[in-house]
Amino acid sequence: MTKKKVIKKKATKKKVAKKASHKISKGMVFEYAPAPESTKVEILPKYGNFIGGKFVAPKSGKYMESRNPATGELITKIALSNASDIDSAVKAARKAYTETWSKLSGMDRGKYLFRIARIIQERSRELAILETMDGGKPIKESRDVDLPLVAQHFFYNAGWADKLDYVMPGKKVKSIGVCGQIIPWNFPLMMAAWKIAPALACGNTIVLKPAEQTSLTALRLAEICKEAGLPDGVVNIVTGAGETGAALVEHKGVNKIAFTGSTDIGKHIARTAGKTDKKLTMELGGKSANIIFADAAIDQAVDGVVNGIYFNQGHVCCAGSRLLVEESVKDIVLKKLQKRMKQIRVGNPLDKNTDLGAINSKEQFDKIKSLVKQGKTEGGEFWQAPCSLPTKGYFFAPCYFVDQSGSASISREEVFGPVLSITTFRTPEEAVIKANDTAYGLAAGVWSEKGSKIHKVAAGLRAGVIWANTYNKFDATSPFGGFKESGYGREGGRHGLLPYLEVR
Ligand code: NAP
Ligand code: MG
Repeated sequence: MTKKKVIKKKATKKKVAKKASHKISKGMVFEYAPAPESTKVEILPKYGNFIGGKFVAPKSGKYMESRNPATGELITKIALSNASDIDSAVKAARKAYTETWSKLSGMDRGKYLFRIARIIQERSRELAILETMDGGKPIKESRDVDLPLVAQHFFYNAGWADKLDYVMPGKKVKSIGVCGQIIPWNFPLMMAAWKIAPALACGNTIVLKPAEQTSLTALRLAEICKEAGLPDGVVNIVTGAGETGAALVEHKGVNKIAFTGSTDIGKHIARTAGKTDKKLTMELGGKSANIIFADAAIDQAVDGVVNGIYFNQGHVCCAGSRLLVEESVKDIVLKKLQKRMKQIRVGNPLDKNTDLGAINSKEQFDKIKSLVKQGKTEGGEFWQAPCSLPTKGYFFAPCYFVDQSGSASISREEVFGPVLSITTFRTPEEAVIKANDTAYGLAAGVWSEKGSKIHKVAAGLRAGVIWANTYNKFDATSPFGGFKESGYGREGGRHGLLPYLEVR
């Protein structure tokens, strides 16, 4: 190669490096071309309730709109049901319980569950797209996290159906009857699967009330139950608002209420159900802490924190919404966190590149905005990732507050959005005290290279789920649930069967 050519090559290299560093300084390493999901899902103009194996119109004739939070477009209309619809569903569930489901062997119940699990796998693309359209979460999450877990919960519980004698060795167990199940909007199909699969495996029948913002995948699950040949009335799905859920809680024919949702509504339900002999389980809110020690693998920890709070727009009950970082590594953690946050792609949830989708509803969007506004008046430092947001729909850029006082609303209240609260600590003891200084007790994450430190800290934490050097990892075989105001009862694993069984 001639001297001239070598000089020219060096110059080009320099130019390329300059261009790349310009891009990095803007916050994005690569610009991706849009990759929107192209599969079309068939959606009817309106949906009734699924009662006794059929889709039926609500008694009032009233319907609610179901809109796409990323675009504001109307997707379809769903039934606004009242106490009379709930009554029909409970009667259908009772009939199915006494005449068929409770008489089937565990092995036969298991066959239905396996069939449902397989159909979920076959239709998972369609279910993931619908979940994303209805709820705003990125398609890569609904496709790669929610749907595999939904199928896993059915497969896992199907396996238990003929082995219930081993749930509590030495004891006899029996189904409890008709279960009322009420679920929230953050993991619509996953919450339905967490509730329906163990209840059916244990021989109970069901009336499920999905959240009004996200009922569409539960209604599709009703179609799947039909396709699997599940006897009529074993699973009933009734859509509606808060009053519809309240009617289910108050119904005398219901033996158990399983609720997942906010702590406020949970307390209200507990008061009502407490006056009856209904069994009750509660999966409520959280304000979970990620604890980073100075000896942790910092890049890995920062990635885990990002996953912990910005995953699913922070619409996660166990979101790591508080970060406790050892004082000596605060600056490096913040620097790396900012760099990582600048790379988060916010936008069209149906685009396969999107990391952070739409906030689920206008109400939730307004709540996040108002808590952040209030947070800015409560001291500390605020930082928000500089990213361009779509002009339509409800989008909120990921952000954090540092060094607010422990009494600030952002550090105490469940924001349920992409908002992180950061403070420091000096000793493991202080970290444990600060992590436990909350009304909630759902989850926590500990980041350290020292196994002994992880075990010691974990033993002091009052949280139902504790992750070590990872965060937001779920598995159907593992129990999930909280302490304190995060609720009681467990879902998943062997523990998740107990609330659906009478132990003798
Ligand atoms: P929410 O407002 O409490 O609603 C949950 C469900 O309860 C919805 O189906 C709702 O219906 C229904 N409901 C409302 N009022 C009722 C009443 N008086 N009686 C009976 N049912 C009633 O909660 P969300 O805003 O949907 O969900 C977010 C909350 O769920 C967060 O606090 C989150 O932490 C929690 N969560 C907890 C877990 C866990 O496992 N611990 C998991 C996921 C979510 P409408 O939708 O029609 O209002
Ligand atoms: Mg919707």
